Amino acid sequence: ELYYQPKVRLSDQFTVGAEALIRWQHPELGMISPDRFIPIAEETGLILPLGEWVIRTACQQLQKWREQGHPEISLSVNLSGRQFMQTDLVNMVQQVLKETGVNPKNLELELTESMLMADADQTIEKLHSFRALGLSLSIDDFGTGYSSLAYLKKFPIQTLKIDRSFVRDLGSNSDDNAIVKATIAMASSLNLKVIAEGVENNSQLNVLKGYNCEEVQGFFFARPMSSKDFSLYMKNEASNTSNSLRVM
Ligand code: C2E
Ligand code: MG
Ligand code: MG
Repeated sequence: ELYYQPKVRLSDQFTVGAEALIRWQHPELGMISPDRFIPIAEETGLILPLGEWVIRTACQQLQKWREQGHPEISLSVNLSGRQFMQTDLVNMVQQVLKETGVNPKNLELELTESMLMADADQTIEKLHSFRALGLSLSIDDFGTGYSSLAYLKKFPIQTLKIDRSFVRDLGSNSDDNAIVKATIAMASSLNLKVIAEGVENNSQLNVLKGYNCEEVQGFFFARPMSSKDFSLYMKNEASNTSNSLRVM
């Protein structure tokens, strides 16, 4: 099943996007974390059909929300290493976009540094093909992988996602404060959007606001939830907004 976690824009606290996160509800073992089964799916090759299912399901869901009249959001999907190396990946994504009618500007792919750096030259070409489809690209878990700042400006990416390990001790660990502050400043001068992951409390949020972080994602705002719950969440947000407008 896919769950969806809101991404919130800090300037007005609106939900402007969501990340699709896979869940496996096992009949005996209960909920199994993707951190446990994605690596196995990678090893066995099952990640290819699974990854295609994720992209198709996410796009179908995005269209359903649109039909239900929810405000337009962008939805991001995680790619895995093996999936990224798949030769017909770009064609597959193009096919799913066509089939579901999703506006490519509302779809984002999340890639990690290690995936991008595995074969940097080939990566650039592939990223350009994705961009030609009209979708956007982000680097997930930024700062935790094997990365090259020189490549950062060569890769046609739009967003950096600051890993939650840097967000966890914001406010109490001055090293993490410095890293997050510098990452946001660098992203801004490279014209990249920046989003902080794993925001769990108000003090982390205040530090991020102070550094002019654009967007946040984390339990402080909402946990990943089923498509049905996400739909209710957006309905709630819309009615709260219209109530507060009426008060004004
Ligand atoms: P990720 O892409 O970095 O996703 C963010 C993870 O952080 C999610 O874990 C999310 O539930 C968790 N998270 C969000 N906010 C908070 C917070 O405030 N505090 C804490 N402690 N955690 C927070 P999840 O859903 O267990 O996913 C783990 C990883 O599994 C993902 O990390 C991603 O790398 C991978 N994954 C998930 N879904 C997919 C998928 O459809 N395809 C592929 N290839 N990988 C996936
Ligand atoms: Mg992600
Ligand atoms: Mg991440």
